[in-house]
Amino acid sequence: MILPIYLYGDPIFKKPAQKVKKIDDKFIETLKDMFETMEVADGIGLASTQVGIPYSFAVVDVSAYEEYKDFKRMVIINPEIIYSSGEEIMEEGCLSIPGIRAEIIRPNKIVLRYQDIDFKVNEIECDGLLARVIQHEVDHLLGKFFIDYLSPIRLKTLKPRLVKIKRGEVKTHYPVVIPGTRKVISPEPQSREDV
Ligand code: ZN
Repeated sequence: MILPIYLYGDPIFKKPAQKVKKIDDKFIETLKDMFETMEVADGIGLASTQVGIPYSFAVVDVSAYEEYKDFKRMVIINPEIIYSSGEEIMEEGCLSIPGIRAEIIRPNKIVLRYQDIDFKVNEIECDGLLARVIQHEVDHLLGKFFIDYLSPIRLKTLKPRLVKIKRGEVKTHYPVVIPGTRKVISPEPQSREDV
């Protein structure tokens, strides 16, 4: 099932997500839905809060990129970045902030501690695009967006578009929730000729 994605400005992002305490069938079902949603929306990462769930987990799949073609999609539960180093500029976008992309400076190497689908604690070290996606998703779980790293001047130039997003005035090819309303806007169905 494709889940609607919550947009920038929704109260779901106002506070940090709570710890996941147990994994049950409903949780597994939600993960399946999140992978499906991420694929349909052409995302490479999706945090629980982006689909309206206030518990700390995210899904990641960077296998569409040549250098990660053997990457096995990941579920990261209660993720925590315990070490980071270096610096790198990379362009970021976000399914919750459609139409806006910006170059963001972040550490290029991280160590992530997380729990996997068996609830086992793991630590992985990564860099490049994978480190980037993970940092972006962990930020979502803390109530932070990539645009929070922009200068006040740059942010000011984006303000009119952010105001529109907060009103739900967006065009996306995936369903979204109008901030603060729980009302879902579905994309126009594609005509059969497109398939
Ligand atoms: Zn995002």
